[in-house]
Amino acid sequence: MVRGTAGPALFAFRGSHSLRSLRTALDPNRAHSEPRDRDVFRLAAPTSSNAVAITDKIYVKNHRQLASQLETNIPKGAFKGATLDVLFQGEGLEKLDEATQERVLDFSSDFLDCDCDNNPYCGCPERKFVRYLLELRAQGLGPDAIVDVMTDDYMVYAYSGDVLSFLDSGVRTLEAAEGLAEVEGSDETRAEIRQAKRDLAK
Ligand SMILES: [Zn+2]
Repeated sequence: MVRGTAGPALFAFRGSHSLRSLRTALDPNRAHSEPRDRDVFRLAAPTSSNAVAITDKIYVKNHRQLASQLETNIPKGAFKGATLDVLFQGEGLEKLDEATQERVLDFSSDFLDCDCDNNPYCGCPERKFVRYLLELRAQGLGPDAIVDVMTDDYMVYAYSGDVLSFLDSGVRTLEAAEGLAEVEGSDETRAEIRQAKRDLAK
């Protein structure tokens, strides 16, 4: 499902249930920090198939308007190299209206902020975004709400069906990890995995 593309509606739900707003409410200093780290989510977010697949399916909202404001031809995929390049270099961003600019800059500072030499092609942006999705899920949001929040936070969107299959495959990956932990016999790891699985599956 794609939400309406009308400009003003895009910002209508800002502040309602966004992760950033929640974080800001809890601790204002954390407003622009990286999504909270939770190590066990690493297991649900392999760099292989499901992580790649979901970030390939994250799109720039109002892509055409954005491209025309930037006076450049960027792909629709938010994690396509040419899109990341524009975001990373920040070229022409001053041409965007203020609300759009704020979201684009938030995206850059939250996902493209690593020190890798080959940034933004190091894989960190994709990994961080996957973790962001898992955190939203852990807060109890369903696929539709997750799409709303990512649009609200960063002006990107996905089809909720794609988010759903991503979460499903995350749960299956954790199940496999849990089985492995049973064999390896670490109770602590097993409990952690079980909790993460419960967070994703609820
Ligand atoms: Zn990196």
